[in-house]
Amino acid sequence: MWILGEHDEPYRKARNSILNLVGNTPLVKIRKVLPKDISPKVEIYAKLEGFNPGGSVKDRPALSMFLDAIKRGLITEGKVVIDATSGNTGIALAMVGAALGVPVELAMPANVSEERKRIIKAYGAKVYLTDPLEGTDGAILFVRGLVEKNPERYVYLDQYNNPANWKAHFYSTGIEIWHQTGGRVTHLVAGIGTGGTIMGTGRRLKVYNPDIQVIGVQPAYPFHGIEGLKHIESSIKPGIFDESFLDRTIFVETEDAYEMTKRLALEEAIFVGQSSGAALWAALQLAKELEEGLIVVIFPDGGSKYLSTAPFRD
Ligand code: PMP
Repeated sequence: MWILGEHDEPYRKARNSILNLVGNTPLVKIRKVLPKDISPKVEIYAKLEGFNPGGSVKDRPALSMFLDAIKRGLITEGKVVIDATSGNTGIALAMVGAALGVPVELAMPANVSEERKRIIKAYGAKVYLTDPLEGTDGAILFVRGLVEKNPERYVYLDQYNNPANWKAHFYSTGIEIWHQTGGRVTHLVAGIGTGGTIMGTGRRLKVYNPDIQVIGVQPAYPFHGIEGLKHIESSIKPGIFDESFLDRTIFVETEDAYEMTKRLALEEAIFVGQSSGAALWAALQLAKELEEGLIVVIFPDGGSKYLSTAPFRD
């Protein structure tokens, strides 16, 4: 997924490293968790973003934002890359930083899973923990404060407002889905955190075929247990997210997301995080309404990082 200039040194470095494995994730058909009343002409496929080297969909924007900042001359000797994250972007940025030899610092709510914090530290990045009651908004405000105090030191990637986030999906995820479905895709279903996945993938698919429906997934309430997703109305609105672009939003309750996540592992042998369960729950509601179609659902990451959290804890 090399979207920016092809000949500069950082690009060569990235291509000759683990970063070359970002993207080109598999698509797998969902066969068993389908309700009985779904039309036989409706198919559902899941895009398994957990197969990225950093373990999540966020490898794509992390790499894209990093390379964009390098290209614009922002990341020079002595600079530290910083961002606010609910975890997966942190892991992805820490991985990219380790691969390219750039120091990374990250702020995240203290209640993100222990595994995420440890993986980030394993890649050598520094972690700041913020008030869990403030969610990712608390982490965003913390980073803004740090950057204001020390603008010389930091390159703030700002995934919530950085166009290189959604463009990563415009130049990779969307193209992959079109080819993997042989152009048969009719609906895209994806959860919203920054909105990068749905905006970039959706925009690309609508370039191929404007009739493709783009459906966003949000938690039903401001306080929820679906890591990675944002209840947009009650949060700092991500600048890259344009709700009017979506054809529809489906709201999912935490318990339904957990139930679906458990069933995915048990019945489909697909072990993923809670936001994948949420996205599939939404896709099944949609599927019940259709006569025919091919729904692609984004599964943002694998389940390992969530073993110490619900729904896997007990
Ligand atoms: N699910 C998980 C587990 C995530 O970490 C994220 C990213 N915050 C998302 C979904 C949503 O992705 P996006 O930021 O592209 O909207």
